[in-house]
Amino acid sequence: RGSISSLMQRLKMARKQVPQQYRLVMLITLIAWMGVAGFVYYNTQLLNTYKTSDELEQHSASFEKKYKKYEKVNLPKITDAKYFIDLFPYKRDVKVRAVLQYTNETNSPIDTLHYNIDKDWNPEFFIPNSDLVYEDKELGYLIFQLRTPLQPGDSLELEIETKSVSQGFENSAGNTGIIHNGTFLNNFEILPALGYNESRELSDKNTRKKYGLKPKDRMPELEENCTEHCMANYLTDGRSDFINVETVISTSADQMAIAPGSLVRKWEENGRNYYHYKVDHPSQNFYAFISAKYEVAIRKWNDVDIEVYYDKKHEVNVERMLDAVERSLTYYTENFGPYYHKQCRIIEFPRYETFAQAFPGTMPYSESIGFVINLEDAEENNIVDAVIAHEMAHQWWAHQVMGAKMQGGTMLSESFAEYSSLMTMKHLTNNPMKMREFLKYDHDRYLRGRSGEVDKEMPLYKVENQMYIHYGKGSVILYALQDYIGEDKVNTAMRNFLEEFKYQKPPYPTSLDFMKYLEPQIPDSLHYLIDDWFKEITLYDNRLNEASYKELENGKY
Ligand SMILES: [Zn+2]
Repeated sequence: RGSISSLMQRLKMARKQVPQQYRLVMLITLIAWMGVAGFVYYNTQLLNTYKTSDELEQHSASFEKKYKKYEKVNLPKITDAKYFIDLFPYKRDVKVRAVLQYTNETNSPIDTLHYNIDKDWNPEFFIPNSDLVYEDKELGYLIFQLRTPLQPGDSLELEIETKSVSQGFENSAGNTGIIHNGTFLNNFEILPALGYNESRELSDKNTRKKYGLKPKDRMPELEENCTEHCMANYLTDGRSDFINVETVISTSADQMAIAPGSLVRKWEENGRNYYHYKVDHPSQNFYAFISAKYEVAIRKWNDVDIEVYYDKKHEVNVERMLDAVERSLTYYTENFGPYYHKQCRIIEFPRYETFAQAFPGTMPYSESIGFVINLEDAEENNIVDAVIAHEMAHQWWAHQVMGAKMQGGTMLSESFAEYSSLMTMKHLTNNPMKMREFLKYDHDRYLRGRSGEVDKEMPLYKVENQMYIHYGKGSVILYALQDYIGEDKVNTAMRNFLEEFKYQKPPYPTSLDFMKYLEPQIPDSLHYLIDDWFKEITLYDNRLNEASYKELENGKY
């Protein structure tokens, strides 16, 4: 007796003990198991590789250590972009050719172009009169030298081709941007980034420490007199300002493809659908390319086409969405200024992501937060109205005027958008208690958020992209302000600020530029609010100390 430990002994024993008729079954099972394991190994380790989270961290740290020195290198700006995109949803493949115009808007000649690339997109560069002088395949950094430097004010046209080809299956879900029904890719994803890419840096203090990196500033300090920091906005980081965008995009015969701007032409070729789009007004270099089997609901508002692209089974809130867009367009054009696109699209996408986002003239909107919930009974304010009003407001606050990349920048987009949304809600409901629910939501967002702050809470006008401040606190403050001084006064300040800065070349405005428009609207007696609400962190500890009542002549109290 005793335990049998060696594998050989066990196998010998098995040969004696396992009956003849089971042996074949076991052998077949073993071969099948090895076959499946080999197939999985081939797909997840050889055909598609992946990095562990430790490897990814290491990668980011090395990238920063090696290339941070190029962060301030002189680069041209992207001033014009043309895309030729072929989507193959059922193969989950995409091919991109981009014709880009770069302009030297600096005061000195530029002789090198730096790129940060994503290997999965296999980029190929066609830059006239240039040589690839540096290539780091591991970390994805390239430097091209221009044989003739680009002089100040001069432009250069070049092409970049990328493609993403799906093969087999991956260890994780893979790229959920390209799928059978509901492809959603944004321009940052499909093209290599020009210059050093700060967003690749590790952000967590402790993780950075592990790799010997100093803690990162969340944002440059707010400046009274603008320096170089005002030359970039926080969205495009100085790589571009407002640009022209044109796209020819094709997809399978049963799908529609959407790109930013007005549809110029639509045709069929080789059993595929083709679309040509062009933006009506120069826009932020920030947009999406989308394809799916869509139904389209259209409503005309003045000369704007309001369009909702939705899945046939998800029509339940579509009318409500058209109403919400119309309501936003009405309030924002009356109070803030014109809308500069000829269309206004809401485009449903699958719930791999659960957000709605504002691109110029378009709003991709996750099915999970508006299309697959039935709001039939929600008579007054509801989440769809609020989300659409917020995203629509970004067509003014972000897409017309964008804050400089420094403290306070997101107040000018997120606080303003959330305030605008609250104002459309205010006009929608007759019930002040309903409004209270919305305000409470934003108010709680602030209080909850500040309790979880790991770094430092900033006053609103110096917000460092902290969501609980720019959404929660910012919107409640602006809403309270219109309660105190009047809706007209707050909106006048916002409108005048927009009028000065909309669609302007840099320098981009700061929160102090807005304060200059706000202050004259506030009577002297309330001037303390500027300090208490915007420039300091003030919390109120209100309590009811005493209550009394008396009977009136009519018998009521
Ligand atoms: Zn927003």
